[in-house]
Amino acid sequence: MGFVQGLVCRECHRAFPAEALHVCDYCFGPLEVAYDYDAIAAHVDRERIAAGPPTIWRYGDLLPVRAAGADLNPGFTPLVRADRLAAALGLGEVWIKDDTRNPTGSFKDRVVAVALTKARELGFKVAACASTGNLANAVAAAAARAGMESYVFIPANLERAKIVTTAVFGGHVVAVDGNYDDVNRLCAELTSERPDWAFVNVNVRTYYAEGSKTLAFEVAEQLGWELPDHVVVPVGSGSQLTKIHKGFTELARVGLVEDRSVRISGAQAEGCAPVATAFRSGSDQVRPVRPDTIAKSIAIGNPADGWYALDVVRRSGGALAAVSDEATLDAIGLLARTEGIFAETAGGVTIATLAELAHTGVIGRDERVVAYVTGNGLKTVEALGPSLGPSIVIAPTLEAFVAAEQAAGGQPS
Ligand SMILES: *Cc1c(COP(=O)(O)O)cnc(C)c1O
Ligand SMILES: [Zn+2]
Repeated sequence: MGFVQGLVCRECHRAFPAEALHVCDYCFGPLEVAYDYDAIAAHVDRERIAAGPPTIWRYGDLLPVRAAGADLNPGFTPLVRADRLAAALGLGEVWIKDDTRNPTGSFKDRVVAVALTKARELGFKVAACASTGNLANAVAAAAARAGMESYVFIPANLERAKIVTTAVFGGHVVAVDGNYDDVNRLCAELTSERPDWAFVNVNVRTYYAEGSKTLAFEVAEQLGWELPDHVVVPVGSGSQLTKIHKGFTELARVGLVEDRSVRISGAQAEGCAPVATAFRSGSDQVRPVRPDTIAKSIAIGNPADGWYALDVVRRSGGALAAVSDEATLDAIGLLARTEGIFAETAGGVTIATLAELAHTGVIGRDERVVAYVTGNGLKTVEALGPSLGPSIVIAPTLEAFVAAEQAAGGQPS
C-alpha cells in the first residue's frame, strides 16, 4: 500500500484517491491503480521477493493493499514445462501455468484475496460478487475464512459442482434466472442499494483486477526472471488478460526483468466470442453477444474489459481465436493425457486456442510460450458427458479380468 499513488481514469487520466471508487466521475471511464514505480524500484529486488511467502503476497509491494489479510494464501502455483503437449502440437517450448492448484481451484482466489483485503481496509462488512461460478467459490471461501458475511449471485444454470462448492462455505447463494450479463446488471444496481457490500468485481473491481498481475509476476520469476515470448490467456471479462500485460510491464519498469515485449494472445469459445470476433473483423467495436457454450466460466457476452483486452492483444502482436465446444473437450483430454493436468472448460478453451494458433503459424516453434490454465476440471465434470467411464466392467474375480482383457484384445494369458 505504501507505493500506491492513487487511482487514475483509464480514459481521461484524471486522478482520484485510493478509496472505494471504480468509475470516473467525469467520463465514467474505469479506474486503474497507479503506483510510484521509482520508489518501488529503489525498494524491491529479486532477493526480497524470494524471501517472501510462497503466495501472491511475495509481490505485496506491487499490490494495492497494506498486508496479507485473513485469506486463503493463493498463488505461487506450479509453472510446468509441457514437452509432451508441445510435441503433440508441433511447438518448441511450452509451459503450463497450473492455476487449477489454487485453494478453490481457480485463479479467482488471487483476485478475491486482494479485493477482500482491500474491502476490509475500506470498512466494508459484506463480501459479494456477480459470478460465472469460480468467483462464487472464491468469494464464499475467502469470506468464510475472514469471518465476513457473503452474498454471491450466480446464473441459475451453473454446473452443479460449482453450486455445491460455493454453498458449503455457508454464505448466501443467490441463483438468478438469467445469464451472467443479467446477474452483473443486477449487482451493478445493488451496489447503490447496499453501500456497505463490497462487490469484488463491481465496486471494488479496480483493486480486484490488480490480483491478476501476480499471474505475470510468478511466470517471470519461475522462468528465472525472464519474460516469456508469448502467452495465451482465456478471456471472459478481459480483465485478467489486461492485467497480465500490466504485470509484465511493471516488472520491467521496476528493474526486476529485462524489458522485452511479450506477445499476448486471447482465447474465447465460439459460443461467446465478442472480443475474438472484433479482432478477426479488424473492428474496434466489441459487440455484445448472447452466450451459448460449455465454457461457462468465461461466458460473458458483454465484457467490461473487452476493448482493453483487444487493444493489448493488437499492440503486443498477439491474436485472438475462438474455438468450438468440441475442440475444447478434445483439448481437455489432450492436456490430461499428455501432462496429467485436469482443466475445466476454460482451460480447454485455452489449450484449444494454443493448438489453433500453433496450427495457423501465429505461434512459432522458436517461441517460449506460456498457456494459462485457470480452473480445475473437477468443477465442470458434466461437460465431459457420459463419454468417459470405466474401460471395462467385471465381476471381482481374476478369471473375469483375464477374460475381459482378452475380449478387448489385450494381453494373452
Ligand atoms: C473468470 C475466469 C476467467 C476469465 O477471467 P476474466 O478476467 O473475466 O477475463 C478465465 N478462466 C477461469 C477459470 C475463470 O474462472
Ligand atoms: Zn475519466
